[in-house]
Amino acid sequence: MEPWQWDEAEWRGRVEHVRAGRSLKPASWPGGARCAVALSFDSDHETNELRDGGNSIGRMSWGQYGARRGIPRILSVLGRESVPATFFVPAVAALLHPDEQRRVIAEGHEIGLHGWIHELNSVLPEAVERDLHFRAADQLEKITGIRAVGMRTPSWDFSPSTLKIQRELGLIYDSSLMADDDPYELVEDGVPTGIVELPVEWIRDDAPYFNMDRFKGLRPHTPPPAVLDIFIREFDRAHEEGGLFLLTMHPHVIGYRSRIFIVEELIRHMKARGGCWFATHAAVARHCATGPTAGR
Ligand SMILES: [Zn+2]
Repeated sequence: MEPWQWDEAEWRGRVEHVRAGRSLKPASWPGGARCAVALSFDSDHETNELRDGGNSIGRMSWGQYGARRGIPRILSVLGRESVPATFFVPAVAALLHPDEQRRVIAEGHEIGLHGWIHELNSVLPEAVERDLHFRAADQLEKITGIRAVGMRTPSWDFSPSTLKIQRELGLIYDSSLMADDDPYELVEDGVPTGIVELPVEWIRDDAPYFNMDRFKGLRPHTPPPAVLDIFIREFDRAHEEGGLFLLTMHPHVIGYRSRIFIVEELIRHMKARGGCWFATHAAVARHCATGPTAGR
């Protein structure tokens, strides 16, 4: 049946299956902070090539760069600035680089779920998706010693079954959807789930500005200083509104000599502005789930 032939139950059901419920923007942030800052790095590494069934040595080496140069460079900036962050890691990337995951945890950061091999959830049968998420959670726990409490779906690809599986996993948050600037509660077919959504946006992601495809027309069209400018403007307004500033980055995108200044200067800008609570996604989700909300 074509979309224009659907009855109301069909189109309304599709829209309301997973929805933004009440705002969880808190009445206040810890320590009297003006806003919260949640930085995340998606450590995809070689899984970006593997998930498409690829075998390109060149693209594997690009993934390896993320682990070999990107992650150390990022960890050194975060360490110098004493800023905690969240790293979302596919299980296969963690199996390829287990010491990296242990180092990330040892330096006070969080590791969250990011699929098994960066698979696209929406093309999988529910049983397969469930099996992969559970295996990924077990594998990350085996490597890091810590059970992940949150998920960023690979490529932000959220299937009709994903929320149900997140409930079964007992997760406290997701960070893959974009219905608000500030945290909100996920509602499944009209029923509040208690799961906190920490919303993402392509605007607050390094990849769309910098990725390129050698054989297609896709080329970076935004210079690095302009990307910093966009991130600063997103932060400044979050600060003004007393909300959340959440940024998604990738070691194989931002971790280069000519780009890492974006992370450094952004953190310096935020510290100069003052009143920022730098926290992991898990800490932000816990605060938003338990405290009184701003009542928006
Ligand atoms: Zn990813």
